[in-house]
Amino acid sequence: MAAQSREGWAMSRRPPPPPLSDAPLAPGLYLVATPIGNLRDVTLRALDILAGADLILAEDTRVTGKLLAAYGISRPMARYDDHAGGRTAPRALALLEQGGRVALASDAGTPLVSDPGFPLAREAIARGIPVFAAPGPSAALAALSVAGLPADRFLFAGFLSPKSAARRRELAELAGIRATLILFEGGSRLKASLSDMAQVLGPRPAAVARELTKLHETVVRGPLDQLAADPVLDHPLGEVVIVIAPGREEVATADDADAALAEALTRLSPGEAASEVARALGLPRRELYRRALDLKGGG
Ligand code: SAM
Repeated sequence: MAAQSREGWAMSRRPPPPPLSDAPLAPGLYLVATPIGNLRDVTLRALDILAGADLILAEDTRVTGKLLAAYGISRPMARYDDHAGGRTAPRALALLEQGGRVALASDAGTPLVSDPGFPLAREAIARGIPVFAAPGPSAALAALSVAGLPADRFLFAGFLSPKSAARRRELAELAGIRATLILFEGGSRLKASLSDMAQVLGPRPAAVARELTKLHETVVRGPLDQLAADPVLDHPLGEVVIVIAPGREEVATADDADAALAEALTRLSPGEAASEVARALGLPRRELYRRALDLKGGG
């Protein structure tokens, strides 16, 4: 029977810890996603894998240790990051080759995504060792889902350079991509990054998702130039994902088409020039061909 509150409301009892699966864990390397803040975001399967692993590789054993302690799991752990991994990886790979089960967890979210693990996963694949994903939290996808921006086509670009000049160059490379952009950033650089983004990409709609799933979770949406000036985002602490809408498709004008055709006709036949310009400007070839003939004839 349900317990009752002092006011007489029926209250559900605190649920018991989730039962771990009895199913044996197949040998292989498991890439285990872990919470990006709220420890209850861990999946039941992630707990099964962590509890059943012969060895847990952790980006930071203290961070993963807290997760294990919260769910009463105790397994051998070793530190693994792409630098210290040089020492741990041979041991893990030897264990895997003997049919062991090894779980890799980063501090937060999905391993390998701006996190350690790629060299190990690549080597395991090269050696024919089974590699399994245990999908779950991902800061990039969590931010995309709450950004209020198109999510059907996106490009995750990780961290931009900490230096403004290099960052602007990187942004210029991303400017022409017809997809929503997802970028990681630390709170201390957020304002400087937003200001570079506004200057290079213009006032595109965007969202800043900060401290997702944590106590101070904030999502601020607006054009990049407004976000760059928003005092709510002045606080230098916290983890941040920036999501930016795709740039608007620029429609080529008749003058653009004429200029491109005139240049192409100095090198190509009217048919070839029409095809090249149609590809470059996204305009119908048939009309461009007619115009190319006119231009060629002095029209
Ligand atoms: N592999 C992780 C994942 O899949 O979420 C990302 C690791 S990367 C080293 C850390 C960056 O992820 C942070 O600088 C921030 O951009 C983003 N991030 C991680 N946790 C976050 C959170 N709770 N809220 C917002 N951004 C977060």
